[in-house]
Amino acid sequence: LIAFLLYLFYLVAPIGQLVEGAVQLQQGLAAMKRIKEVEDLPGEPVGVPAGTGDRPLGVRFDGVVFRYGDDRPIVHDGVSFEVPPGGLTALVGPSGAGKSTVFALLERFYEHQGGVISLDGRDIRDWSLGELRAALGYVEQDAPVLAGTLKENLLFAAPDATEDELRRAIVRTRLDDLVARLPDGLDTAVGHRGVLLSGGERQRVAIARALLRKPRLLLLDEATSQLDAVNELRLREVIAEVAAETTVLVIAHRLSTVTNADRIVLMESGGVRAIGTHDELVGADELYRELAATQFLVS
Ligand code: ATP
Repeated sequence: LIAFLLYLFYLVAPIGQLVEGAVQLQQGLAAMKRIKEVEDLPGEPVGVPAGTGDRPLGVRFDGVVFRYGDDRPIVHDGVSFEVPPGGLTALVGPSGAGKSTVFALLERFYEHQGGVISLDGRDIRDWSLGELRAALGYVEQDAPVLAGTLKENLLFAAPDATEDELRRAIVRTRLDDLVARLPDGLDTAVGHRGVLLSGGERQRVAIARALLRKPRLLLLDEATSQLDAVNELRLREVIAEVAAETTVLVIAHRLSTVTNADRIVLMESGGVRAIGTHDELVGADELYRELAATQFLVS
C-alpha cells in the first residue's frame, strides 16, 4: 500500500506542477498581450525629441471622451480641467466617477476617443511612450514592497541614482526615521521575507522610489486603507514638499490629505462638476460639502 501511495504521489505531484505552470504561462501570455497592445497603440510617433528637462509638466484635459470598449458605457463624457506646472492638484469624487481613468489615459494605457489631452501644451498623442514614461511617475494604491533590502526597493526603478539622490529622496519622504530604526538600516530586508512595513511606510517607500526617477509629473493614487494620524500628517507634508518642485496629481480617497491642495477637481459621473480650493468648494458645492461632512471635515 505504501509503495502504491508513493507511486500515486509521484504521479500526482508533477500534475500539480503542470497545472501551476499552465497558470503561470497563461498569466505570462496575458501580460505579453497587454504589452503588445500598448506597443501597438495608434499614433505612436518615432523620433520625437527627448523631454524638455526637469521642469514640472502642465496638464490639460479638453472635452475628453472615453469608454473602455465599444460595448462599454462612456466613462469620460467631456472631461475638462487644467493643471498648471507645479503644485498639488487633487482629483476627488464618488466611486466610479472616473478618477483612476484620468491616470490610465495620462499613462496612455488606453487611448481616448474624443477631445484633447495635452502635456506642456503638446498633444499626448505626439509624445513617444518612452518620453512619457520618463516624464511620469506613478505611485499606485497600496504599492507593493518587493522582497529584498530597503535600498533595493528604493533603487529598483533608478539603479543609477547617486548616494546623494538616494539620501535626499529618503529625507524628502520622511523615511529617515525608519532607516534609523531598522537593524541594518538601508540594507535591512523588508517585505514578506523581512521587516514588515506599515501602510504609511510602504506608501512613502513607493513615493521615494518614484521620486528617484525624477518625474516631471507625479501621479499618486492614495491608498484607500486608513493611515494613523501620524502617518497621515507625514503623507500631507511629503506631498506638499514634492509639489513644490514637481506637478503632483493625487487621487484622494480621504479629503483630509488634500485640504491644502492648490486646486481640487471634483468629478461626478464622468464629468468635472467643480474646481476650486477646499474652502471654495465647501462654500459653493453641495456634493463636496457632503463628501467633506462624511469625512468629518465640516459640521
Ligand atoms: P474609485 O474611487 O472607486 O477608484 P474612480 O472614480 O477612480 O473610482 P474609475 O476607476 O476611473 O473610477 O472607473 C470609472 C468607470 O469605469 C467605472 O464604472 C468602472 O467600472 C469602469 N472601469 C474602470 N476600469 C475599467 C477597465 N479596465 N475596464 C472596463 N471598465 C473599467
